[in-house]
Amino acid sequence: MKSRTLVQIGLALAVALGAASAANAADKIKAVASFSILGDMVEQVGGDRVEVATLVGPDGDAHVYEPTPSDAKTLAASKILFVNGLGFEGWMDRLDKSSGFKGKTVVASAGVQSRHMIEDEGGKEEEITDPHAWQSLANGKLYVANIRDGLIAVDPEGKAEYEANAAKYLDAIAKEEEAVKEALGNLPPERRKIITTHDAFGYFGAAYGIEVVAPEGVSTESEASAKDVAKIIRQIRAQHIPAVFIENVTDHRLLDQIARETGAKIGGTLYTDALSPPGGPAATYLNMFRHNVGALTAALSS
Ligand code: ZN
Repeated sequence: MKSRTLVQIGLALAVALGAASAANAADKIKAVASFSILGDMVEQVGGDRVEVATLVGPDGDAHVYEPTPSDAKTLAASKILFVNGLGFEGWMDRLDKSSGFKGKTVVASAGVQSRHMIEDEGGKEEEITDPHAWQSLANGKLYVANIRDGLIAVDPEGKAEYEANAAKYLDAIAKEEEAVKEALGNLPPERRKIITTHDAFGYFGAAYGIEVVAPEGVSTESEASAKDVAKIIRQIRAQHIPAVFIENVTDHRLLDQIARETGAKIGGTLYTDALSPPGGPAATYLNMFRHNVGALTAALSS
């Protein structure tokens, strides 16, 4: 009799625990992140209290994304939206309005010292803001602070947890920043030049002393012209640029052609605007840096 009671208590407890965890899942703060790199950062800071949906997933190109009806539904059901800003998500305003989203929007790049460049847009010179601020870990720390403050604003009860998660994450980012500076600091000055398809490494290059040349400019929206490609080829030859890099978010045929015509080697794949799928070499923000820096040092050190 006694043992049967224990079994019954055990069952009752299991049912109660099951109900509790289901309730927890329903109670989680629903957050949306515009792209995978930001999605990872929100997950790191949000921890167990937050359920993150990412609109542009691994290997996706957020410059030219076309939102789906299901994105609108996801956004409408969420409490907080994280965007990069700096003109990265040109499609977001329309999605935001059409979805009827009523939550809080956090611009993760707020406070970043933005980079601007003059680009030739169909014969007319225009000043363009470079959106790829996350490619500097110093900026990444600002993103984390903005994410933390945004989550606290919509979920004040989680303040201590968000602060603890952010502090731990900021510490890891600072450690990675030191490692990146050390690894890239050892490269010979004349080899600190690379080619990528689109200009996603401006902040990275400025932060860590690498010169980046890209035929496509800071967006992937318009393809490089024959004139742009010819100019890059001349530049590679004149400046002895040692390596070109494929990106996970752009077509690699243009770079294959440039490598063939100049004899520059293909230094591997850089993760610029999106993470790799889970289990890949760049599935988190910090692993993206580890992978990219590994590829750069391997190609440029000798
Ligand atoms: Zn980009």
